[in-house]
Amino acid sequence: MSVEVGGREGLSKGEFNRLVSSGRLISVGSSSRDLRPILVGEGVSTKVNANVGTSTGKCDLKLEVAKAEAAVSAGADAIMDLSVGGDLDKVRRTLLKKIPIPLGTVPVYQVYFESKFDMNLDSILNVIERQARDGVDFMTIHAGITQSFLKSMRKRIIPITSRGGGFIASWMLKHGRENPLYTGFDQILEVLKEYGVCLSLGDALRPGAIADAHDDCQIGELKILGKLTERAWSAGVQVMVEGPGHVPIHMIEQDVVLQKKICHGAPYYVLGPLVTDIGLGHDHITSAIGGAIAASAGADFLCYVTPSEHLGLPDIEDVRQGVVASKIAAHAGDIAKYGDMEKDIEMSRARRKLDWEKMFDQALDPQIAKKYSCLTSKKECSMCGEYCVLKLLEEDK
Ligand code: SF4
Repeated sequence: MSVEVGGREGLSKGEFNRLVSSGRLISVGSSSRDLRPILVGEGVSTKVNANVGTSTGKCDLKLEVAKAEAAVSAGADAIMDLSVGGDLDKVRRTLLKKIPIPLGTVPVYQVYFESKFDMNLDSILNVIERQARDGVDFMTIHAGITQSFLKSMRKRIIPITSRGGGFIASWMLKHGRENPLYTGFDQILEVLKEYGVCLSLGDALRPGAIADAHDDCQIGELKILGKLTERAWSAGVQVMVEGPGHVPIHMIEQDVVLQKKICHGAPYYVLGPLVTDIGLGHDHITSAIGGAIAASAGADFLCYVTPSEHLGLPDIEDVRQGVVASKIAAHAGDIAKYGDMEKDIEMSRARRKLDWEKMFDQALDPQIAKKYSCLTSKKECSMCGEYCVLKLLEEDK
């Protein structure tokens, strides 16, 4: 397996082998497709995932491909296809063809879409194998929600916010049976192992309201995920563990420390976290705040959130904004984690010289930087104009 070079990914071979063999670092994208795997976990830069996918109300394959392409050009490291509308095989296969970065799925979406309440282990294994054969690189499996949580989750403000977790919970409630992803976990692992697919252990009970954070449901499920992590490792499957959700700022560091402890150092893939519930319309910001703090505390992979979160299916611009917000959060986290501030220093040097081209080069979002740029004829910006402090300092020399 090749080690990415440059920057944070330039691990020595010994360090790389040590981290991979301990499960603290995984290589996502080792499928049959011709793409460069990304490294997720300890010792490497924090990665960003962007979700795309059709819904039952809006099913436009071209639009979803355009969104995925926008996410790639904005710097996303991975894409998840969360489609639940139209021809799901066609959407996934098209994305796999068009997208040059690792692609993840949540197979239970397709199982539920095709079988509804007739879902069983056979239909689950069938979809997982079909998706794996197509070349999907990582899959979210919500194996940690069990019958024991179905009563206690009702005490929450929002009992369940995970869509995959919701499908499984409603099936379990209807049939009064245990989660088939849990009871059939070893068979699922066999398929993932055969096709080299990374397992992403879904947190069906992630809090969907900050007041629910770190309740018995979240922590109880996390303990199960810790045990499932060890089973995945024993089966030779690479694994990362998904996390919240909605978490107030003062609990984020504790959240990351807890996951790393309970899940034995497995990479942590957080969905946000959103630090307040009232940012409606700006949840790319609430999640970027949480993502930066989580990354600085050791989270390894950030799932983006767009401004349309909780409101509707994102459009292309929402996707772009969501990726940029998460990239800023990931980079801010890496500055704290590793002291990775070379680009920031370059930016500041360019700023001191009023070297605008270089500033645009260093910007995480050059497109928006150029859009806002308003320069006077003397090359300072219109903010302070002739009182530009950087010019005044130069003139003082
Ligand atoms: S004009 Fe003001 S804001 Fe603009 S570059 Fe100079 S000091 Fe900075």
